Amino acid sequence: MSRARSWLQEERRKTLGDWVAVCLRCGFAQRYFEEFEAELPAECPQCGGELRSQCPSCGARFSSAFAVECEACGGELRPPEQFGVRIRKS
Ligand SMILES: [Zn+2]
Ligand SMILES: [Zn+2]
Repeated sequence: MSRARSWLQEERRKTLGDWVAVCLRCGFAQRYFEEFEAELPAECPQCGGELRSQCPSCGARFSSAFAVECEACGGELRPPEQFGVRIRKS
């Protein structure tokens, strides 16, 4: 049923990368391929925040920019608060 759709998603993955790194501060998302992981910036190019590409609990990569829970261990990928500073939405 959703065959065309998954084909499209597959194509997108092949073009942009299998995995995604997200900024914990502004939500910036960067797709990447495993072989280029070393080239990922540690900081968000947009706001300088932490760019997270792996689960902090188990180290698993994630494939969705909107994932909030780790697919492997169920741990939190993006805390609503970090270091006591609440994310502002202005
Ligand atoms: Zn950012
Ligand atoms: Zn995990």
